[in-house]
Amino acid sequence: MLTTKDLLALDRKLLWHPYASTRTPYPANLAASASGTRIHLADGTELIDAVSSWWCVCHGHNHPAIVEAVRRQAEKLMQIMFAGFTHKPAIHLAELLTAALPPRLNKVFFSDSGSVSVECALKMALQYQYARGERTRNRFATVRGGYHGDTIGAMSVSDPEGMHQMFEGVLGRHFFAPRPAVRFTEAWDPAAFEPMETLLERHGNEIAAVILEPVFQGANAMNFYHPEYLRMLREATRERGILLILDEVATGFGRTGKFFAMHYANITPDILCVGKGLTGGAITLAATVASEEVADAISAVPPGKFMHGPTFMANPLACAAGCASLELFNQYDWAGNVAAIEAQLRRELETLRPLENVADVRALGAVGVVELKRTPTPETVQEIVLQTGVWLRPFGNWLYTMPPFITTPAEITTIVNAMREIASRH
Ligand SMILES: *Cc1c(COP(=O)(O)O)cnc(C)c1O
Repeated sequence: MLTTKDLLALDRKLLWHPYASTRTPYPANLAASASGTRIHLADGTELIDAVSSWWCVCHGHNHPAIVEAVRRQAEKLMQIMFAGFTHKPAIHLAELLTAALPPRLNKVFFSDSGSVSVECALKMALQYQYARGERTRNRFATVRGGYHGDTIGAMSVSDPEGMHQMFEGVLGRHFFAPRPAVRFTEAWDPAAFEPMETLLERHGNEIAAVILEPVFQGANAMNFYHPEYLRMLREATRERGILLILDEVATGFGRTGKFFAMHYANITPDILCVGKGLTGGAITLAATVASEEVADAISAVPPGKFMHGPTFMANPLACAAGCASLELFNQYDWAGNVAAIEAQLRRELETLRPLENVADVRALGAVGVVELKRTPTPETVQEIVLQTGVWLRPFGNWLYTMPPFITTPAEITTIVNAMREIASRH
């Protein structure tokens, strides 16, 4: 039997972790199981998952209803090609998903991950403009501070500060407006939309679509902005024949307090990307949902089909998990829980604001952010994780929590205290 130490040594020898060096990897914990808000390590240590395992596990880990749905599906059909076949889990999931969306969004294209759903959205926008004879519209516009995934296309519309330099040769040249300047909690100022308006006015004929994350800019900004920006953007794109793509991979399924963040602005995009929480975080699955108009335009003109088709498209196990997860939203007061988590995070994170190392604190829905002045070291974070029993994983200066919606008030307090420990170091 290999000990934990042996396994971690093998991990170090053979595996490459996300955004990691193979020479000096971040410490890795050996997970054995998880349930609800808790992750159990092989050595018996229990951690509260304060980041929902990268923002996915909205109802908590291994929810019995999702486990049961996957188990039952596994006995019948684990995988089948989606060309020439369909199956009940995919059909039912498309029904549940579109029922939660504005009626215009009714063509569901499943894929494997959030990044791929973004690739599909970008390709749909290009094919749509091509089909309409708008052959000059082959670039995208977005805002700074965005994050849309790690594949080449998704990276090309993500914040240019990060990885653009290294990959410059292959990234398309797209248009970046400044990040939305008015915060969610501030009074709206129409001047904040002017840079985007000017960009669209100047380059409108080259732009196929605008893509952005509604209300909450995640991995590259951890910032909440005013929904009025989205209302103005919806108008400005519509007037110019530019499509609007909303990337709700992080914000979808209740994370910001509304079921979708676009509901804060009461707008409907032409194309929507969802992922992360789609299966309740159980299995990787994403979807790109297009309006009838987009789907129809692409289908009307040769080649008359959308040119994409992942091998594991609409995997039955993932779709079964998705159905179970969407049904769970009707079985408990998730919105009440998220509102209570937001109120508690706002109140308790405020007590961290006076700390010398804290630049800002903010919260919306089940997202709480502490912006630090100095980046904590991985070793400090790991030490405090084990000492407090709270799993936190800051990126750079953003120390944040995105707990599962079933996290109790006592657990939220424990999470905030662990954040305080990290923020108070040096
Ligand atoms: C995480 C994320 C993605 C990428 O999803 P993956 O499943 O990691 O490929 C895309 N867009 C947003 C907004 C995300 O938060």
